[in-house]
Amino acid sequence: MARPRLELVEVSPRDGLQNEPELVSTAVKLGLVDRILAAGFRRLEAGSFVNPKKVPQMADSPDVFAALPARDDAVFIALALNRRGVARAIAAGAKEINYVFCASDGFSVRNNGGTVAETLAVWPDVVADAAAANVRIAAVISTAFGCPFDGEVPVAQVVQVAERIAQAAPFELSLADTIGVASPRDVTARFAAVGAVLPPQVQLRGHFHNTRNTALANAVAAVECGVTIIDGSLAGIGGCPFAPGAAGNVPSEDLVYMFERMGFDTGIDLDAAIAAARSIGEALGKQTPGMVSRAGGFPRAATG
Ligand code: ZN
Repeated sequence: MARPRLELVEVSPRDGLQNEPELVSTAVKLGLVDRILAAGFRRLEAGSFVNPKKVPQMADSPDVFAALPARDDAVFIALALNRRGVARAIAAGAKEINYVFCASDGFSVRNNGGTVAETLAVWPDVVADAAAANVRIAAVISTAFGCPFDGEVPVAQVVQVAERIAQAAPFELSLADTIGVASPRDVTARFAAVGAVLPPQVQLRGHFHNTRNTALANAVAAVECGVTIIDGSLAGIGGCPFAPGAAGNVPSEDLVYMFERMGFDTGIDLDAAIAAARSIGEALGKQTPGMVSRAGGFPRAATG
């Protein structure tokens, strides 16, 4: 019997690097993209089109997109928070956009420049802009599990935002634990409730941060309630700006190890993912939080 397929989306070039204090060169980012592709990832966040003054690490995203390898078998995702960002991403040649909403006003006002209702009001225009340019658009609900400013985010609030987003159906909707506060039961509750109000063609995607060491457990909870797409960041980079010193995104190579051992087909070469993760630590000159890149994969039996 064929193993169930699990798609892992690699976000290290965007979410992983965006909070790094030292600017990472465009060339290093492109080298990372090559290693990601070599490991077998076929969807990756390559940059974001947000205010370069707020996120200087992503200021070279147009250059990154201009220099991406011409690969028909890979999708390079651009992140945007508003219509202007979408226009810039399209101009840079992006074919897929992650458009980010927030579940909470506190984060939305600071990160997206408006309340949740205000950002939802322009969504139909955003979808139309993307459609006119023949660009796929996925929606993300950040702070879906908790907000650094508003605290608890009730399930009903997430469902409300999802219902509004679904009116101009994206092909995919992601629930993001932006600050890494979720527990597996929070994951089950939110994905079940959101899945129940979405049209069936909208696929669900999970995005977890390991700020409080719950990300792997949360990824399992998501997959067990039917999510087939999970984000990860090689080496576990992507620290949370609201928790200085904390771990970052869930490490992709740790996801690969765990889900392959659970019987899923991720399409990723674990050894190549570990090599890519180690190269990130070397490029950044620091110890990264991923565990499998330190320990290695399952030990091979000694021969002879
Ligand atoms: Zn994130």
